[in-house]
Amino acid sequence: MIRTRFAPSPNGPLHLGHAYAAIAAHDLARAAGGEFLLRIEDIDGTRSRSELVEEFLSDLAWLGLRWDGEVVFQSRRIGSYGAAGERLKAMGLLYPCRCTRAEIAAAAKEVGLDGPLYPGTCRGRSVNAEGAAWRLDMAAAMALAGPLEWIDDLAGAQRADPARFGDVVLLRKEAPASYHLAATLDDAADGITLVTRGTDLFYATHVHRLIQALLGLPVPRWHHHGLLVEPDGRKLAKRRGSPSLADRRRAGEDGLALAQALRTGCLPAGISLAEGVSSHP
Ligand code: GLU
Repeated sequence: MIRTRFAPSPNGPLHLGHAYAAIAAHDLARAAGGEFLLRIEDIDGTRSRSELVEEFLSDLAWLGLRWDGEVVFQSRRIGSYGAAGERLKAMGLLYPCRCTRAEIAAAAKEVGLDGPLYPGTCRGRSVNAEGAAWRLDMAAAMALAGPLEWIDDLAGAQRADPARFGDVVLLRKEAPASYHLAATLDDAADGITLVTRGTDLFYATHVHRLIQALLGLPVPRWHHHGLLVEPDGRKLAKRRGSPSLADRRRAGEDGLALAQALRTGCLPAGISLAEGVSSHP
């Protein structure tokens, strides 16, 4: 049986791009007689706003999307993230890091890295673990896991290439777990068989596949769908003036008609669907 999920973070209101993602997850499940779950990814204490959750539920109902079972909240699963973190520490695969963003950028420049890749400053150093973030020793983790593959329904079979992310943070300083760890653990806990999300997260899947191998988690299939973009090719965002679903709902727009328009590719003026995966993470 197919089970998909829509997993918004309540850091800001939902917009058309979220509607498109939710419809994709919902319709793929329904077409196969499967289940569609709703998971609220609310563990980012500094950005999460609980008052948005009610809005999300109303937005989805307005679009005519019904989820199965209870809504899942990541904030109620913090224990499982900590336990997985302890397991990875016991395997010798995590190390504490206290670098600030500015320090990382400066150190990366020194070793000729251009971009967000962590240059490994704290790897192999004795760092006070109190209040530190914990990073995955990518080389050690990949050596342990061996070659890995994953399958995207649209892009086909992929060889997992998590090295392009460097030593990613799995346990954060200000949140119980990083997106990579929490989402991977939750997809397994929720029995998700088809992970649907936008191509902007295509590369994250390389890391998720590695985490699954390290923790012995089941391996789903993936479906990375195209993104709704503005005329300049950038992803829709509220801050660039794209109205939220809640704004549209309150303005009396017909949510069912909007959902149907998104399904059939009748997009609002100025918005287009960018298919395919960009070449960068
Ligand atoms: N919470 C993530 C977001 O809002 C979704 C991640 C996912 O679907 O894996 O972007």
